[in-house]
Parts: sequence; structure tokens; C-alpha cells
Amino acid sequence: MHSWIDDIENYKLRFLIRDSHHYLKETFEIIEENLETNQYKVLKGFQQHKITENHLIGTTGYGYGDLGRDALDNVYASVFGAEKGFVRSQFVSGTHCLSCCLNALLDGGDELLYVTGDPYDTLEKVIGITPHNNSLISRGVEYNSVPLTGNGKLDFESIGNAIKPNTKVIGVQRSKGYSLRGSIAIAEIEALVRYVKRIKDDLIIFVDNCYGEFVESREPADVGADVVAGSLTKNPGGGLAKTGGYVVGKGKLVDKVAESLTAPGLGADVGASLQNNLDFFQGFFKSPQVTADSLKTAAFASFLAQKLGFDAEPSYADYRYDIVQTITFEDKEKLLAFCQGIQRHSPINSFVEPVPDDLPGYHDPVIMAAGTFIQGSSIELSADAPIRPPYTVFIQGSLSYEHGRIATSMAFDALLEGK
Ligand SMILES: *Cc1c(COP(=O)(O)O)cnc(C)c1O
Repeated sequence: MHSWIDDIENYKLRFLIRDSHHYLKETFEIIEENLETNQYKVLKGFQQHKITENHLIGTTGYGYGDLGRDALDNVYASVFGAEKGFVRSQFVSGTHCLSCCLNALLDGGDELLYVTGDPYDTLEKVIGITPHNNSLISRGVEYNSVPLTGNGKLDFESIGNAIKPNTKVIGVQRSKGYSLRGSIAIAEIEALVRYVKRIKDDLIIFVDNCYGEFVESREPADVGADVVAGSLTKNPGGGLAKTGGYVVGKGKLVDKVAESLTAPGLGADVGASLQNNLDFFQGFFKSPQVTADSLKTAAFASFLAQKLGFDAEPSYADYRYDIVQTITFEDKEKLLAFCQGIQRHSPINSFVEPVPDDLPGYHDPVIMAAGTFIQGSSIELSADAPIRPPYTVFIQGSLSYEHGRIATSMAFDALLEGK
């Protein structure tokens, strides 16, 4: 029978693909173990809150008494180990959700201290690291950051020294995002919470959880983070949520974020769910599996990259803390060939050739391969790269491991065979 692998031209690559199961066995066992733990947690959340068909129907207008929306908030809170959840399609993106959190939690005179280095590119204007006249800094919020140590860990001593009387929020970005650092383990967040609360017990630990949901068997709020936020077009949307974001955490703090999205006095009581409840529930239910398939795709791509002589982070054998995989090509043409190969093997816009272009919020031209059903969704297989040395691609997502395996293999074939 004809196998897709027969369509791979490169002899060595064909051999590696066929051999990969053997090398990835242990990595996949860990991924599958976490998947079962997380799937069980989600199922229990649905049972605990007695989800019924009525919860899958939405409201319009103000959205008063939206049973599905309110039940989903509770399911998120239970599954993510928090007091309260706030899940809304009215968050236009992850950045918007994070921005609402920071604006709700910080007043003029307070300090925001990021302890994972400067955060994700799109937060630069939100905070005012890149000057902007609606930034936190322009409203009198102070900002400081502590870089990670040389080997990518939280630098506890420097964090301790940086905490001042007006430090109010400790910012943690769990995923590497578009930087070339490691990602933060839940165990590290746990140690951080214990450490900083001993110094000042009213500090608010805020975690940007983008790309981290369901990667491990515990979530940041399980280990004491106060406010945790992320995007529904990443892991927790399970590929089905069309837009939106979520916040979970301490009740009073989540209420503040809700008022920052809607209005003082309105908070979480309004916001029509329209047709989103079904997608949000079903996507959350599927999220552990989609996240696991994304992790397998990342490990597989890492395996091929390393065996072909490219630097890949994490290594295929490493334990993973987010779904992001980087591969460094040291060569612009190879990087472009890889991204174009991913696009050619995507379900949507397979015939379109991506080229580098300038994007708002980014310093260098960026190439983005994203043949996704949902625009910009990065829980679907996507590969993007800023065009600058050392020519590193960031790969994330995949609705199925089988698609991830085929597309990344074909992308390497394109690169090796000059297709
Ligand atoms: C994706 C991401 C964001 C921002 O999300 P958008 O939906 O793209 O605005 C923020 N932080 C991290 C770590 C991310 O990965």
C-alpha cells in the first residue's frame, strides 16, 4: 500500500520518519500520561457543574442570566484550581485579555515586576516598555523586570532584591513566546509563590499562561498563582473556540478584571455568549487531547531537526513546559523553505506562498505559515519566524499529531530537496 512517507524524496528523511517511533516512545508516554490526568480533570469539572444541553445554548443582547456562560466560568475555575473563572468571547485576543488583567490590578504608583525577563512583544505597548500614551507607565505605574538566569531559571535572589514596598504584581510568562529562552515549569512557579509571599504576602502573582494549559498535570492556580490568563485560540479553546480569552484566580481579583473588560457595576453579569457556548465547552473538553497532539508534533519536529543537524529547543527527549518548539537553521533560505513547506501542507490556503512582511508590534519582518481554520490560531499547526539571524522558526500547535507529523516531514523534505 502506498504510504505518505513514500512521497518524501529525501532518502535519509524517509528513514528517520520510519524510525522516529522508537526514539519518541518515552517522550510520548509522558505526554499521554498527562493527557489522561488532564482529560479526567476536565470530565470531573463537567460532572461537578452538571453541564447539560441547555448550557450549550447562548444568549443575545446584554446576556443576562446566561446559564452556559456562567457554568463555563465555573468549569474553568474548577479545572484550573481557582476560586473563580471568567471566560469571554469579548476578549479579542490573548494580548487584550492580559492587558485587561494588568490594567485592573495596577494603579498609579504601584509597581509591576516581571520576573521572567521582559514579556511577550505585544505587551511592550500595554506596559509602555515601548512608549505609548495609553500604557500602564503613562498612567503612573512603575515597571521593572528581572531576567532569567543564564540557564533559563527564575533568579530568586535578584527577585527578592527587586521587590519594593510598592511592588504589587509579580508577572510570570510561562511560555517562551518569541524569545529564545526556556519555559517555566509549574514546580518553579510553586517555588516562586512560596518565596515571594514570604517577603510580602499581599503580592499578586499574575501568570501569562499562554501555550501552557494542559501541558503539565497542574496549572498555575493549583500552586497559588492569584490571577492566570490566556487565549482561547490557543490550548484551552481546543481548536474549536473562534475567539476569546479566559482569566481564573482569586474571586475579588477576577471580579476586577471582569469590570475592566465590561464596566464598573457590570462585571461578569453581562456579555452575550451568542453561539459560542457549544464551541467553548466542546473545545475545553477536547483541549487536553489537542494539546497532547501539539506536544507530540513538537517533539517529532525536534527529533527530525536534531537528527538532521539543526539546533532544536527543547530536545525531543526533554520534558516540556509549553507547546512551542524552536528550530534554528542559521540560514535564511532554509528557514523560508521550511515555513513555505508547512503552509503547502496545511488544510487552508495550501496554495498560498507566505513571504516575510512587517507586522505591527514586531521589530523585524516576520514570515508566518498559518493555514488555519481560525485566523491566527496557534493551537492549529503554525510556524513563524522573525527574519534575523540565527534564523529560528517557532512551531506550535496541531489539531492532530498525524497532520503535524506529515506537515513537518514535508517541510523538512522541501528544505532538504530545495523544493
Ligand atoms: C500568544 C501569546 C500572547 C498574546 O496572545 P495574542 O492572542 O497573540 O494576542 C501573550 N503571551 C504569550 C506568551 C503568548 O504566547
